[in-house]
Amino acid sequence: MNVVALTGKEQLILQEREIPAISHHEILLKVHAIGVCGSDLRIYQNGDNRVDFPRVIGHEIAGEIVALGKYVNHFSIGDRVTLGAHIPCGECLFCQKNEGHLCIKGESIGYQIDGGFAEYVVLPRNFIEYGSIQKIADTTSYEIASLSEPFSCVLSGLKEVEIRDGDTVVVYGAGAIGCMYIAAAKKLGAKKVIAVQRSKPRQKMATEAGADFVIDPLESNTVNKVLEMTNGYGAEVVIITAPAPSVQQESLEIAKKTGRILFFAGMKQIKEISLNTNHIIYKQLKVVGTHGAPRESHMEAVKWIDDGVIDFHFFVTHSFPLHHTEEAFQTALRKDGLKCIINPFK
Ligand SMILES: [Zn+2]
Ligand SMILES: [Zn+2]
Repeated sequence: MNVVALTGKEQLILQEREIPAISHHEILLKVHAIGVCGSDLRIYQNGDNRVDFPRVIGHEIAGEIVALGKYVNHFSIGDRVTLGAHIPCGECLFCQKNEGHLCIKGESIGYQIDGGFAEYVVLPRNFIEYGSIQKIADTTSYEIASLSEPFSCVLSGLKEVEIRDGDTVVVYGAGAIGCMYIAAAKKLGAKKVIAVQRSKPRQKMATEAGADFVIDPLESNTVNKVLEMTNGYGAEVVIITAPAPSVQQESLEIAKKTGRILFFAGMKQIKEISLNTNHIIYKQLKVVGTHGAPRESHMEAVKWIDDGVIDFHFFVTHSFPLHHTEEAFQTALRKDGLKCIINPFK
C-alpha cells in the first residue's frame, strides 16, 4: 500500500509498505478520505512531543472496514465509518467518565500510532473499545464524513459557551473551524454573528458561512466596532479560533457582562499572555478552553452531517490524491480555502 510518511520536519515522503496485519482485536480500515487539520500543519512544521519520526500523521478519517479480528463486535466488513481522533486508555478517571479526549495518556491516531495519510490504517483495540467509530448514512460521502472529527471539536466547544436565542456571537478567525463555528452558531439561534478576519478571501468565506458582519482588524478597531453593533453592551459569546495572544486579550473587552468566551486555538509556542483579569471578575465572564471532543460530541457531529443540518460541502474547498499530500499541506498553509481533503482511492 501507499502511505505518506512524515520523516522529519517538512518532509512528507510517499512510501510503499506492506498492508499491515491485524490482531484478533483490531480493524483494518481502507481510508477513503482524510482531512488536513491545523494540528497536522503544526506537526509538519514544528514536530510534536507526541510524534516520533517517521510517522504517518492524520486523524480526520473516513473509510470502509475491510478486515476485522475475530474478537471485534458491533462492526462488519463493508461498514462505512468515520472516526474520532482520541485513543482513550479506558482506565483513567477521565476515560471512566466517558471523557476519553481528556485521557491522561493523551494518545491519538496519527500521533503515537500511524494515521490516515495512507491507503489503509489499523484501528487498535483501545480505540475500538473506547474511542469513536461511527457508521455513516449511505447518502453521506466519505469526503463530507471526514469532517466529523473537526466538527465534533466545534460542537464540544459550543457546549461550553452555549449559544442562546438572540445572542450576538463574535468568531475570531474564519478558517475551516471558524466557518464551522459561524454556521453552527447561526443554526443554534445566534441573532448576529460577527467574524473578525484579516485575509480578504477568508472574509468572503465568513460571509458565505453565515456571518452577518465581518470586521477587518486592519481597517477598523474591533473593540469599537463590536460595542457599536451591540449598543455598547458587548457580545454574549466570543469564540477564538485564531492563534494570536492579542485577540485573547481583546476578547475580554468585547464580551458583554456575564458573557461566555471560548479559547479554542492553541498558541504556536507556549507563551505567557497577560490578561486583564478585572474584566473576568467585574463583568462576571466565563472563560473556557476546549480541546478535542468526547465520543458523545462525535456522535452528534455525525448526526449533523448525515442530516445535512448545515451545508457541510461548503467547508471542503480542495481535494487531492494521496501522492499530492505535500501539495495539500502547502495549500492549507497558504490559507487559500478552507478544508483540504485527500482521497487515497479516487
Ligand atoms: Zn483535526
Ligand atoms: Zn484514559
